[in-house]
Amino acid sequence: MVSLPENLSLAQTPTPLHSLDRLTAQLNGPRIWIKRDDLTGCLTSGNKVRKLEFLLADAIANGCDTLITSGGVQSNHCRAVAVLGAQLGLNVHLLLRSDIEPAPVGNLLLDQLVGATISHYSKQEFNQLDAIFSHWQEHYREQGAKPYCIPTGGSNGMGVWGYIAAAEELKADFARENISPSRLVLATGSGGTQAGLIVGCALHNIPISIEAFAVCDNAAYFERKVRDDLRQWQQQFAPHIDVEEFPINTNDQYVGPDYGAAGPEVFATLKELAALEGVILDPVYTGKAFHGMLQQIRQGHYRDDTDIVFVHTGGLFGLLAQQDQLNY
Ligand SMILES: *Cc1c(COP(=O)(O)O)cnc(C)c1O
Repeated sequence: MVSLPENLSLAQTPTPLHSLDRLTAQLNGPRIWIKRDDLTGCLTSGNKVRKLEFLLADAIANGCDTLITSGGVQSNHCRAVAVLGAQLGLNVHLLLRSDIEPAPVGNLLLDQLVGATISHYSKQEFNQLDAIFSHWQEHYREQGAKPYCIPTGGSNGMGVWGYIAAAEELKADFARENISPSRLVLATGSGGTQAGLIVGCALHNIPISIEAFAVCDNAAYFERKVRDDLRQWQQQFAPHIDVEEFPINTNDQYVGPDYGAAGPEVFATLKELAALEGVILDPVYTGKAFHGMLQQIRQGHYRDDTDIVFVHTGGLFGLLAQQDQLNY
């Protein structure tokens, strides 16, 4: 077994695991469970805070005082870093990507409220993201500060720990409910949650297939990205573990128009689930993955499964930034 590195207690965990009985009754398929990682905190809600428990512990252990990170303009990750930075007394500089003048709503509004420094870049400028990070790192060093860079989504060898730890929590959930789910379904964007669950379920001997639905890019991209994160983790923490053979299952059929943009079918699924179960998904991540999962069930792909678990990774503030798409 590999021992967990130092970490901060930042997430409200364990999060609930419960079944969606009315939805299950409507479908001719497995019982659907939901792991409520949308409840890891109010301002820190979602999956990113689990990774940040390890990343921010590392930042503090290294004496850093300024967090630099990047993402889309409505990044849930950047919002979590901004909020946690304010809570921990660390400066935060966000590098945000958008091609239009962004409205101060949703996650961006919260970033501003908690006092993060924000630099906006176009998608084209973001192609040079490494150089942008280096520029700001240098800038803070010249000022005598100690910057700590966190990659987009907090997905790197250290961030992988967040969902390794969550896998142990899931194991306890399954034992308590007396279930052995065959599939764990989630949305994947920067790959760190997927990577963590893959290695976490393996380390904790949970026999389950990890099925990630891409919200951007394609399956080949995630094969590379997730494998890279796993290799980084292995090199830093677990040289005796072979990460080359772990299966990486990514379904890229439900990405939709673009990252951050969902088709009407995703909004329809989101509205139906909200009214049926009182669970609210988001259009950027969880709505696409949940819609994809329902399509797989309707097409009979999960016919032999008895229980499957959807990981609700959060995203509510991103939904609020797309209120015009809801047509109320
Ligand atoms: C970031 C995010 C994801 C994807 O997680 P990754 O580890 O980046 O792949 C899924 N859902 C929500 C709501 C997110 O904010």
